[in-house]
Amino acid sequence: MTYNLAYDYSSIVLLVVLVFYYYATPKYKNFQNALFGLILVFNLVSCVMDVISAGFLLERMPDAIFLNRLVLSIYQFCQHSLSPMYFVYIIYIVYPDNGFEMLKKRWPILIPGFVVEFINISSVVTQWGFKYDVNGYGRTPFYFVSLAVMAFYMVLCLVYVFRHKSETGFLPKLVVVLYTFSAIVACILQFMYPYDLVICLAATVSIFSMYLALQNPILLKEALEDAENSRRAAEEANLAKSNFLANMSHEIRTPMNAICGMTYLLESTELRTDAKEYVDTIQNASESLLSLINEILDFSKVDAGKMNPKVSEYKTETLVRDVDALLRSVIEDKEIVTSIYVAPDVPKSMLGDVHMIKQILINLLNNAIKYTESGEVSLDLSVERKENNKVNLIIKVKDTGIGIKEEDLEKIFATFEQVDMAKNRRHEGTGLGLALVKAFCELMNGKVSVESSYGNGSTFTAVVEQEAVSEYPSDYFDKLKQFIYVVLENNPYTRRSIEKTLKSLGVTYTFSNSFEKHIFDKFKGVNYCLIYNDSQFKEAVSAVDTSDMPGLYKISRIGLNDAIPEDYKDVHYLRNPINVFSLCDSMTKAVVAEAKKEEQEVFFSNKVKVAIVDDNKVNLKVTSAILKRFGITAKTLISGYEMLDEFEVGENYDLIFMDHMMPDMDGVETVKRIRALHKGNSSSVPIVALTANAVTGVEKEYYDAGMNAVLFKPVNAEDLKKVLVKWLPASCRVEALPKE
Ligand code: ADP
Repeated sequence: MTYNLAYDYSSIVLLVVLVFYYYATPKYKNFQNALFGLILVFNLVSCVMDVISAGFLLERMPDAIFLNRLVLSIYQFCQHSLSPMYFVYIIYIVYPDNGFEMLKKRWPILIPGFVVEFINISSVVTQWGFKYDVNGYGRTPFYFVSLAVMAFYMVLCLVYVFRHKSETGFLPKLVVVLYTFSAIVACILQFMYPYDLVICLAATVSIFSMYLALQNPILLKEALEDAENSRRAAEEANLAKSNFLANMSHEIRTPMNAICGMTYLLESTELRTDAKEYVDTIQNASESLLSLINEILDFSKVDAGKMNPKVSEYKTETLVRDVDALLRSVIEDKEIVTSIYVAPDVPKSMLGDVHMIKQILINLLNNAIKYTESGEVSLDLSVERKENNKVNLIIKVKDTGIGIKEEDLEKIFATFEQVDMAKNRRHEGTGLGLALVKAFCELMNGKVSVESSYGNGSTFTAVVEQEAVSEYPSDYFDKLKQFIYVVLENNPYTRRSIEKTLKSLGVTYTFSNSFEKHIFDKFKGVNYCLIYNDSQFKEAVSAVDTSDMPGLYKISRIGLNDAIPEDYKDVHYLRNPINVFSLCDSMTKAVVAEAKKEEQEVFFSNKVKVAIVDDNKVNLKVTSAILKRFGITAKTLISGYEMLDEFEVGENYDLIFMDHMMPDMDGVETVKRIRALHKGNSSSVPIVALTANAVTGVEKEYYDAGMNAVLFKPVNAEDLKKVLVKWLPASCRVEALPKE
């Protein structure tokens, strides 16, 4: 009868794979892991010895007594060491933190294991554990003792695992039950079929289940712990670096403060020209250094987790006005049109960290201007409603600058990243700005993103969560809604910006390329607003007399940094970047000033020279009497010829009132002749038609003849005042009625 070794062979295959895998897996060097490795190796050795003994020596070399005994005792030694090792391993599972202490306290439990091992290994000579001689293999009574010891350790494991309910989970229980069960089944089978060697397979299956259920999760946990420890170490190192940076920036700011302050003081003293230049250079350099330090400080605070949003209430209007001022300071003399659009549903005031929002705006707008040479930089503020008064404030900064390559889009938000260095060499920067924007957005439950077309421009969108405090519609919107708008604007960017704002207000508006009064005819309203591009339409607008349109308010649109000319004291202007607030400011100023003008008494110096030409003496008297109220003593002339004579003798008038219907030569003819005279100021003197002719279209004839304005009879003081204010130089005005 030969032994059936199939079970041993399959065990060996499984164990070889397991041993290799186990030792190839990274793990902690600790007792528990080493013990499990030992269990695997001992089991493998016992399987191999079993095969050598039962499959080869017993059959082919039965007379090699010593060799047979040696192999058998190694087999027994390895096989019987499994149960005490298994017990120790289970103790370490049940008491993961103090397995060693537990065993130290209960060390006598291990004695039976050692005794069995000693007897097994010594059986080579003593034959206590088993017998092998010329009659072959035989068991001794000790065999049953070793079986009992094995059972003893299994029962102990069961007791430990099931008694310590709280520490022991389901898997250790499953493993010990399986281990015990397979050992019992294996023993029974072995007794029943002594030639089928199943003991090794039973042990292998049990150990394999131990590996899967207990050891593998331990290794995984260790690996995770390892990763977590390295993450924590990296985080701590990063924190230390950030703290260092924060402290350093703080320390640097103190002397910087002194440098900036002293430079400022130095600048205000008397300096030689070259010294002044040096001081200016120091001042510029220290300012940029200070802003760099501020950025680093902010960033290191964010990194060190010390930057949390400081929530306070702020007004959208204040924010927009601050940004407006900021744009003015950074744009310098670039040919860029700027605009700010505030959607009508952006709350009037919000709760949030306005410092962070400003930093986001400053960085995005600074970049947009920095990387744009011409075209437009626009800011759009809108909101997205959320629950419980929460809103997402959406900040969109769009430019028509150099753009960013697709492959660089992800990189630009990383710290110290600057892309496209070849193209950007001219631009200074640290690569911190966008990293800060990203960090701030994330701190406020938002995010930042970018879309860009290389060579054409970029759009950055930052979203931050805020809380709405008070909602629109605000007074601003209401005020602006009272007007009908006519816009003369040739710049496409400004045109778009004005249109966007007007559209959002829901008002009536139209764009025009020239200025004629009849533009207003198509609208029905009482208040009109004329917004005109100062550089393109100033002349056209002033050439048209609108004094008969009391509800018309003119707003001159000027560039971001344009200087206001001296003679613009009475002109209301709207500066880029156009936004709802600045539009409202200009409108309010215009309305208030007009109202004041109407109320206010105006007086002119008695040096003002005004002529009235009318063939009707009563009319002459009435007009000159009204003019007297304004301090003007007018010269009365009864025909056009007399007026022409005045020029002939070298008289120059500041203003002429001209009747239309006169015998011999009417007013129109007279004006034509005056304009053709080229004597003194005859071609430029303002001439106002006085007419009783109310036929529509008559004004055109007057303007064509060279008159500047038209007054219809009966003339009233209010209309006359408007004409005087408009056509007499402001320098002729005096505070009070001049003495005769
Ligand atoms: P920097 O201080 O260099 O401007 P940022 O973090 O603000 O640092 O920006 C990182 C990089 O992103 C810049 O160096 C630039 O290459 C690119 N960038 C940022 N904004 C724009 C923009 N509006 N147009 C084109 N490139 C931009």
